[in-house]
Amino acid sequence: MKKYQKKEACCGCGACAEICPAKAVTMIRDQEGFCYPQVNQSVCTECGKCRQVCPVGEQERGGGLKLYLGAQAKDEGLRYSSSSGGVFAVLAEYVIKRQGSVYGAGYDGNMRVIHTEASNQIQLERIKRTKYVQSSMEGIYRRIEKNLEENRWVLFCGTPCQAQALMLFLKKTYEKLIVVDLVCYGVPSPGIWEDYVRYLEHKHRGKMTVFSFRDKRNKDNGHVRSYVIDGVEYVDSLYQDIYCKMYFRNYILRPSCHHCKFCSVDRNSDFTIGDFWSIDCVRPDLEDGMGTSMVIVHSERGKRIWKEIEGEFVWFVCKKKDLLQPRLLSQTSQARVRWIFWLLYRCLPFWMIAKLMER
Ligand SMILES: Cc1cc2nc3c(=O)[nH]c(=O)nc-3n(C[C@H](O)[C@H](O)[C@H](O)COP(=O)(O)OP(=O)(O)OC[C@H]3O[C@@H](n4cnc5c(N)ncnc54)[C@H](O)[C@@H]3O)c2cc1C
Ligand code: SF4
Ligand code: SF4
Ligand code: SF4
Repeated sequence: MKKYQKKEACCGCGACAEICPAKAVTMIRDQEGFCYPQVNQSVCTECGKCRQVCPVGEQERGGGLKLYLGAQAKDEGLRYSSSSGGVFAVLAEYVIKRQGSVYGAGYDGNMRVIHTEASNQIQLERIKRTKYVQSSMEGIYRRIEKNLEENRWVLFCGTPCQAQALMLFLKKTYEKLIVVDLVCYGVPSPGIWEDYVRYLEHKHRGKMTVFSFRDKRNKDNGHVRSYVIDGVEYVDSLYQDIYCKMYFRNYILRPSCHHCKFCSVDRNSDFTIGDFWSIDCVRPDLEDGMGTSMVIVHSERGKRIWKEIEGEFVWFVCKKKDLLQPRLLSQTSQARVRWIFWLLYRCLPFWMIAKLMER
């Protein structure tokens, strides 16, 4: 395997490490807390499999059927416990009812963000909602392949680069596989996230068990964040949270996100989901501050499944222009002072970075 030329050219999906038959590739964290593949050239056989699976290569994207929809789950509890309009959870229930497995991003016991499997309602609750952290895909590609070879239903939901990596890893289509990708602003550093969790745990002298980036208690489309440490809940504005400030100021995004190839409606997945930003203009009668999903159906399979679940939603067909938003048109720009942030991060303890971000 030739080393990817620049950090901007690696989205960190980990598919190369998982496919390598010689086990020559290991994902190693850099100083910014993102994982990159490191190749042991002495065992690499130059088989080329790692290149074939890489989602940032030149592959054809999209081209198939396109349906543009807006949707809100009718089940208010389900919509409340989702970040947007609840499309992911309804699709997940479709698969769980068929004894299948759902793969999405959840927290492990140390609040690290990892992709994990859910095959019942309790496990599903753990993978609902947006986590603004790059998730680890370790072990996931192979597990999904195994489930599919056993003829089980599988739903995968993740960033577009993860979804594309999965499809390349599997090499063939499976009738019982549903691939859902997100509209994606970009993923922040897992290293910074873990520092932040430890900082809050130290501040409140306890262990964090819950963190919600988009808490809907104020019916405002989730502009509240909340977390629980030793049973005590702390609630604040999403935009006052210091980690979210670093994220939305574009200091801590993965370098590849500023060069993303998936900022378009053209995808190879079955569904693309995101927030319906212009719902107040397109369907003001539906805007209730509790979240509306935008959905793009890309495949015949997606269309068939939508027909089966459409009764679970208040939904409407719209035009492409109605649901377009910045991340379907161009990449998130890098902050000009990004390098200063990382210089400070290397030199100062995290609590000082946190103090600086409070301003
Ligand atoms: C990092 C990130 C950036 C986003 N940027 C935008 C944006 O710019 N515009 C927009 O419209 N929507 C964006 N979204 C999508 C949006 O926040 C909702 O996740 C989406 O609309 C699905 O909502 P839902 O109610 O259907 O389901 P939810 O229950 O809210 O979605 C849950 C599923 O989303 C996936 N997910 C959550 N966190 C991650 C993660 N860190 N990595 C991979 N997959 C994850 C998982 O599979 C998870 O199970 C982003 C999501 C993430 C994770
Ligand atoms: S070329 Fe083959 S053996 Fe070498 S790192 Fe890539 S997948 Fe592994
Ligand atoms: S994008 Fe994924 S497959 Fe490509 S080099 Fe990076 S980790 Fe490997
Ligand atoms: S912005 Fe692009 S490269 Fe970054 S996580 Fe999203 S899909 Fe992947």
